[in-house]
Amino acid sequence: MNEARHGAGMTSQRTRERLITRLRDQGIRDAATLDALAAVPRHLFVDEALATRAYEDTALPIGHGQTISQPYIVARMTAALRTSGPLERVLEIGTGSGYQAAVLARLAQQVYTIERVGALARSARQRFAALRLGNVQVRHGDGSHGWPEKGPFDAIIVTAAARAVPPVLFAQLQEGGRLVIPVGDEGQELTLYRRQGTTIAYERLESANFVPLLPGEVG
Ligand code: SAH
Repeated sequence: MNEARHGAGMTSQRTRERLITRLRDQGIRDAATLDALAAVPRHLFVDEALATRAYEDTALPIGHGQTISQPYIVARMTAALRTSGPLERVLEIGTGSGYQAAVLARLAQQVYTIERVGALARSARQRFAALRLGNVQVRHGDGSHGWPEKGPFDAIIVTAAARAVPPVLFAQLQEGGRLVIPVGDEGQELTLYRRQGTTIAYERLESANFVPLLPGEVG
């Protein structure tokens, strides 16, 4: 597709690099995370009408009442998962546009992602195919049960807010595995958990504002 039709350079590599500089200035230090964000064309994960805003550091609507997360939050959660251990098998709950999964696909061996809205799951699948991201598997369903057949995971990322962490998710973490999730209704806290033997350590990262984790699935 030619650049003019896609927003007169607003989606160019240079625009993307300005975003990366900004994320670094905001305290994202992990070079591999920043490289992954630099490599993923976020404008292909939003509607064409919003493509010129894709490299602003803001959440944007993706239809079905859902949003693609703010790049800073994507970077913060990704960098948190990369601390203290390998990142080979990753589970994401809340595929949405597929952007966060595409970023993870550049850092992990295999990414599994679950989305409750069928239309979003299908369009994310098409984006992964178009970008030749062969290491992402999408499932349409309720992610609050995890994906036990594919676990245990080195890392689990939940990109919708839960009042409490669904306990089955801890059970699907590898020893030393990390789980990052926004917890709470109003006033959510992005929280990083780490499984250490039979105990779970946790650390609050910062406040966040995600759409809620909802039960069941819709077409
Ligand atoms: N990670 C996404 C942003 C996600 S927005 C991105 O990069 O674009 C949160 C998503 O979680 C929405 O698409 C919503 O439909 C989905 N969701 C909410 N509850 C869910 C559940 N129980 N299982 C799976 N997906 C869920």
